[in-house]
Amino acid sequence: MSNPSLLILAGDGIGPEVMAQVQRIIGWYGEKRGLNFDVSEDLVGGAAYDKHGTPLTDETMAKAQAADAVLLGAVGGPKYDDLDFSVKPERGLLRLRKEMDLFANLRPAQCFDALAEFSSLKTELVSGLDIMIVRELTSGVYFGEPRGIFEEGNQRVGINTQRYTEAEIERGARAAFELAMKRDKRLCSMEKANVMESGILWREVVTEVSKDYPEVALSHMYADNGAMQLVRAPKQFDVIYTDNLFGDILSDCAAMLTGSLGMLPSASLGAPMENGHPKALYEPVHGSAPDITGQGKANPSACILSFAMALRYSFDQGAEADRLEAAVEKVLADGIRTADLMQAGDGKPVSTTEMGDAILAALDASL
Ligand code: NAD
Repeated sequence: MSNPSLLILAGDGIGPEVMAQVQRIIGWYGEKRGLNFDVSEDLVGGAAYDKHGTPLTDETMAKAQAADAVLLGAVGGPKYDDLDFSVKPERGLLRLRKEMDLFANLRPAQCFDALAEFSSLKTELVSGLDIMIVRELTSGVYFGEPRGIFEEGNQRVGINTQRYTEAEIERGARAAFELAMKRDKRLCSMEKANVMESGILWREVVTEVSKDYPEVALSHMYADNGAMQLVRAPKQFDVIYTDNLFGDILSDCAAMLTGSLGMLPSASLGAPMENGHPKALYEPVHGSAPDITGQGKANPSACILSFAMALRYSFDQGAEADRLEAAVEKVLADGIRTADLMQAGDGKPVSTTEMGDAILAALDASL
């Protein structure tokens, strides 16, 4: 049987720097665990624009469609700020998400105990936190028609439309229930059924889907209350399923509970492929961090943890994903930190490569 395929798009800024550490981890899995991937690399974002005049070529798009999983670093940077909208680096990422039809965005908010002090909340509220927000990514108010700025009488009016079909709500809900089945079997669906018809439909469809998942305890919450509960008592949640707009806000809010941008992975999943796994794009939540690019300061953990998600959701390697997450946790517990995880008075930060070294050493120690 051939090895699973992984397309790596390192992108811009710190993307290639953090991805170099992921490549070392991938090499470790081949060498020490007999887990080999057919890895290919290509350009996206500003790097693709510089070479091809477009942030994503058709050839790269085709490779992404064919791959078992895509791992992306980051795109963008000040050099590209003045480019026409149609060729901006972000358009490459948006094209990937759109054409791969990645409708479920998974944003874990997991608080490593060693970093609990970095949270904006009290340590006891976040210590041990492990929640997963599933955000519907391809529909809702960011895409609904009509949209635009129109003349109405003597003034302009800005219009966006929240629109969801049953099928769109249902496929995201199934992804969320499947995840809940692999976790603590609790799902909280968030909408505003009190004031929005799309919210009423959302609640009805999620309730209907729940009949196929009798083991999962389903609850419903208005999204504004959800925001309050996330900062009041976040550990009450396991999986949260919500729409594109609420998910955009709630997932950023939950992310900050855990401290640093340099630690946050994500996955965007689509429909199942022939191999039974969903189409998938894994990427750190952070951007290209132009302020620290080329200085060896970037924390590679978010990108490494994104690869751990790929092991879990695309390659059926849940135990190896656990191993990698535990290695990152051990390094943090040992006090090894990149600069973004340090406070005044802490010791000397390690470099991007040294963080990679430490994670590899922790992986070795796990054998
Ligand atoms: P950013 O996430 O790049 O950086 C925000 C801050 O966090 C910076 O101070 C940066 O140094 C720090 N930071 C981010 N990742 C880090 C890491 N791994 N280790 C240590 N520190 C880290 O966001 P920004 O500054 O708003 O945007 C910079 C560029 O990235 C822009 O061009 C933006 O459009 C793009 N961007 C891309 C993505 C993506 O590729 N998915 C996401 C967000 C922003």
